Amino acid sequence: GELTQETEVAVIGGGPGGYAAAFRAADLGLEVTLIEAEARLGGTCLLRGCIPSKALLQTAEIVWDALHASERGVDFRPPQVDLHKLRSWKESVVDKLCGGLSKLAQRRGVQVLKARAVFEDERTLRLDGSDVTHLKFRHAVVATGSEPAALPDAAFRVGGRIMDSSAALDLDDLPQRLLVIGGGYIGLELGSAYAVLGSRVTLVHRGERLLGGVDPDLTRPLEKRLAQVFEKIHLQSEATEISEEEDGVAVTLRTPDGPVQDRFHKVLVAVGRRPRSAGLGLEAAGVRIGARGYIETDEQCRTSVPTIFAVGDVAGDPMLAHKAMREGKVAAEAIAGLPSAYDVRAVPAVVYTDPQVAWAGLTETEARQKGLRVKVARFPWGASGRALTMEAAEGLTKMVLDPDSGRVLGMGIVGRGAETLIAEGVLAIEMAATAEDVALSIHAHPTLSETEGEAAEVFLGSATHLF
Ligand code: FAD
Repeated sequence: GELTQETEVAVIGGGPGGYAAAFRAADLGLEVTLIEAEARLGGTCLLRGCIPSKALLQTAEIVWDALHASERGVDFRPPQVDLHKLRSWKESVVDKLCGGLSKLAQRRGVQVLKARAVFEDERTLRLDGSDVTHLKFRHAVVATGSEPAALPDAAFRVGGRIMDSSAALDLDDLPQRLLVIGGGYIGLELGSAYAVLGSRVTLVHRGERLLGGVDPDLTRPLEKRLAQVFEKIHLQSEATEISEEEDGVAVTLRTPDGPVQDRFHKVLVAVGRRPRSAGLGLEAAGVRIGARGYIETDEQCRTSVPTIFAVGDVAGDPMLAHKAMREGKVAAEAIAGLPSAYDVRAVPAVVYTDPQVAWAGLTETEARQKGLRVKVARFPWGASGRALTMEAAEGLTKMVLDPDSGRVLGMGIVGRGAETLIAEGVLAIEMAATAEDVALSIHAHPTLSETEGEAAEVFLGSATHLF
């Protein structure tokens, strides 16, 4: 039968963009229905992205440290990975957070419907798979996220021994030999986690450098480590042919040194993600889809239809959870009539490899490309006492500054703990802080945060621990 409901705000998608929008709208007193096709809230980020990948990387770090503590006089037995236990621990982390989200929705009075939503027109959603078959809304927020991009050649289609990031996070086994296609952050994070946990990993990457676009001085220490962790890295290379065999996959790689034939137990395809904007009935609602499938939005996350908003991965780059959450809040506030806008100077990006790489605001590469006059101040971690106690001397903290005013325009960090350190950079950039502001803020000793104070001192001309 048919059952039509009405709601003030319909949010489609229960990932970070969608749940942030739903929660904020409810907190502002709006009546909210959150529609999620899957059984649980959390989206890509919680179910098959940020959280499970970090759980694996955290474990890989323990293994790495155990294997490399003998220099400090501590020897462990060779780590034994119990994959079954690791998998259930990872799932327990995800479960806890999923449970938390559903409580947070419940306490706020957000109605959660498990259904696939499709627009019928600019006021109506059809819901597949729920008792409520139609939902009339005053406002809608599209937060349908993204999915792994596929390689054009159908032979690389995911299934069996060919995995995408979701399958890799399922952790069915630790293949003896794993081929990772793609040297972006997902390929590097998952590839290095598998490698440290025990797989022999080969990486193929189309570009000249891993993490293309990131400043080379930030990626260099990571490249050095990955050269140790991976069996082989092929740059400017492509997997051209693949054929699944009984006990493995035969792959042909095109490399600058000619074709290479090799066999692997599994292949991970990590060649980017694409917005999930097709099959949603957006055309029927009159919502305009722009280049590369992203929904077009303004600074309030409003689409070409004034009552329909779009946030998160489906609404454009960078495809990051914290950007999705901010947009979700902006959309909710705009719906509530508040003058909010997505107007940020710095979106931090973190690659959770070991060492980690993080940056925010203007990068040196961008400044060069745009011909901007900037000054770059660097503080190498070799001069940090704390870094030495952590065996992290290869790290680097750098700031991109306006040469005249000393304003902090960007920050980049490579090294353990970069994920947390970058926050000071974001705050400095957002607050229009100058090098002097950062240098005069006391950083606890001995901490890695001192490298930020000292990078600011480098700009000012005299850093205590550098000469
Ligand atoms: P999603 O999280 O993709 O959520 C969209 C939701 O909408 C899904 O639950 C989907 O089921 C639902 N949906 C789709 N269509 C419909 C429909 N028609 N009806 C009902 N429901 C629908 N980002 C970071 O910031 N940090 C990280 O460390 C990080 N690590 C990552 C690691 C991996 C392996 C991957 C794959 C991604 C990672 N990301 C990370 C990216 C991050 O996951 C995304 O940026 C984020 O999830 C985007 O949130 P979203 O709300 O836009 O979409």
